Amino acid sequence: MRTARRIAEVPPYLFAQIDKQKAEVAARGVDIISLGIGDPDLPTPDYVVERMREEVRNPKHHRYPDYEGALEFRQAAAAYYQHRFGVELDPKREVLTLIGSKEGLAHLIWAFVDPGDYTLVPDPAYPVYRTHTLLAGGIPHAMPLVRENRFLPDLAKIPAEVARQAKILFLNYPNNPTAAVADLGFFEEAVAFCRRYDLLLCHDNAYSEMTYDGYVAPSVLQVPGAKDVAIEFWSLSKPFNMTGWRIAFAVGSPKALDALGIIKTNTDSGQFTAVQFAGIEAISRNAAAFTRGMNEVYRRRRDVAVDGLRSLGLEVERPRGSFYLWVRVPKGHTSVSFTELVLAKAGVVVVPGTGYGQFGEGYVRAALTVSEERIGEAIQRIRQAL
Ligand SMILES: *Cc1c(COP(=O)(O)O)cnc(C)c1O
Repeated sequence: MRTARRIAEVPPYLFAQIDKQKAEVAARGVDIISLGIGDPDLPTPDYVVERMREEVRNPKHHRYPDYEGALEFRQAAAAYYQHRFGVELDPKREVLTLIGSKEGLAHLIWAFVDPGDYTLVPDPAYPVYRTHTLLAGGIPHAMPLVRENRFLPDLAKIPAEVARQAKILFLNYPNNPTAAVADLGFFEEAVAFCRRYDLLLCHDNAYSEMTYDGYVAPSVLQVPGAKDVAIEFWSLSKPFNMTGWRIAFAVGSPKALDALGIIKTNTDSGQFTAVQFAGIEAISRNAAAFTRGMNEVYRRRRDVAVDGLRSLGLEVERPRGSFYLWVRVPKGHTSVSFTELVLAKAGVVVVPGTGYGQFGEGYVRAALTVSEERIGEAIQRIRQAL
């Protein structure tokens, strides 16, 4: 058989390589501490699981779900945006249920990108934006995220001829992998840029609820008029420890949501309605108390990790958002050589920054997905390895 050319173009999935090296180290009997994949270690709240137990018994949910998502879930999403961001949304036209943000982001690209079109993609970034642009025959134009510009893209550096041939500008703040945050002023600039070049602004807001030290992350839809040009993805995965459930939603431009909906109705048949009702439980009355508690857990882990890494002479900022640390590798190391060193000598898994793009060189990403105690242990082992 002969597979499509596009399959050969996909860069190897980052975590597949790490998993292989990890298995080799584990086979030597090493107790591995994984700060690799950004997957919360704590369980989904009990009341969400209980709601799922009830909903799964309802025979109404056993049939095909509504394509655009259960109206009740979309209403709960709209209520969440109103309460949390002060953003008014019409649940029927401006909210779409997704089988996780990854699904929605991937399909959005197929709804917008024709062969030869550009997309404007941060580098480093969550890999889906670039990979699906390539699969769709498009050309990802890298916008470097560098420390000198606080890991924000410099929109003025995008060549006008590229911007004119582009379809989507991708942003993600609080950011994976750099843990940088953006203020509303930057989103205003991005909205104006997309208006000028007739682009869709796609903001991936997966980490808006994971913030510290009093910082509150905005929605891009807080910018006046943003709904004309922007779509925002919001996921229950990270804030509510629900990565396995596959539930998220997209909000914003009805035109963009309709186009995404056309790809989706011809591809999937929506998320299990029982999962959507359990999702309502997550984003309704207990949401703020739950995320506040989780942020306290991550803040303490962050401080143990940042203080520990700095005591080893490593450079790392104390992030105000996400649950990642973006750590400079020591002099004489590359991202990959440092990742291999801490895995082989300390049994600690981190991700090389280059897995997220060429401008990730010189960094590794560590996820705060183990206990404070295990973070302390990881620091001690890295100290010995160095
Ligand atoms: C984890 C992550 C997602 C994926 O979220 P799902 O809703 O679980 O698919 C999307 N974007 C970024 C930046 C992420 O880190």
